Amino acid sequence: MLTIDIITIFPKIFENVVEFGVIKEAFNNNLCRLNIYNLRDFTLDKHKKVDDRPYGGGPGMIMNVQPIYDAATFIKSKNRVAGKEGQKVLLLSPKGGRLTQAKLRYLSGLKNIIIICGRYEGIDERVTELVADEELSIGDYVLTGGEIPAMVVIDGVLRLLPGVVGKSESLECESFENNLLDHPQYTRPPIFKGLKVPDVLLSGNHVNIEKWRKKKSLDLTKEKKPDLFDKKI
Ligand code: SAM
Repeated sequence: MLTIDIITIFPKIFENVVEFGVIKEAFNNNLCRLNIYNLRDFTLDKHKKVDDRPYGGGPGMIMNVQPIYDAATFIKSKNRVAGKEGQKVLLLSPKGGRLTQAKLRYLSGLKNIIIICGRYEGIDERVTELVADEELSIGDYVLTGGEIPAMVVIDGVLRLLPGVVGKSESLECESFENNLLDHPQYTRPPIFKGLKVPDVLLSGNHVNIEKWRKKKSLDLTKEKKPDLFDKKI
């Protein structure tokens, strides 16, 4: 079973994350566990301070290394994952490697993912050196904190766990699997405001339907994501 542990100063943000859709099913069926840790519980001073001014000056506050180090150490000792391979500590950061479907697939095969959510101006660099196995970014833009990126990781990973999404088929046909975008999809009605569903999809000819879908998928990828198209399998 996959255990995801979140280290955050805003645990309440995660309260409803497991309450909806296929993610709820994953938890109801005991396919995964989610533990939320309040970083302030690992501080040593009575004010439960988690940040301080940057050495060398500059704007904003920097998150201290000590509570993050202690939180991650506590979680690791609690989980006791055998071998380092099954466990990863991720530091969410715009400076990290970009999250991809392939990375989500890799993460979904682990036993334990520990996610550190940053806030403020940044995080003491020693967290990267001492605690994190890797820095992960959800895109080239800056958000106020790591909590929404953590939810992106949780959602993307959990839906890849075997048994979470109904038919494994519906995962295999998706965008980014095989480095191709998904083909267009339609459902009832056959005509809406003059726009007709392509005849081939109503034909019942499954060979032709497959050919049409494959072609659309290739055309769409070439047009919208040429970099992906070059890597298609
Ligand atoms: N000063 C930092 C920089 O320029 O790299 C940005 C800090 S940001 C305001 C605060 C926190 O939000 C980060 O420590 C990180 O945890 C999270 N965050 C913001 N944007 C992110 C992104 N694109 N991917 C992952 N985490 C992000």
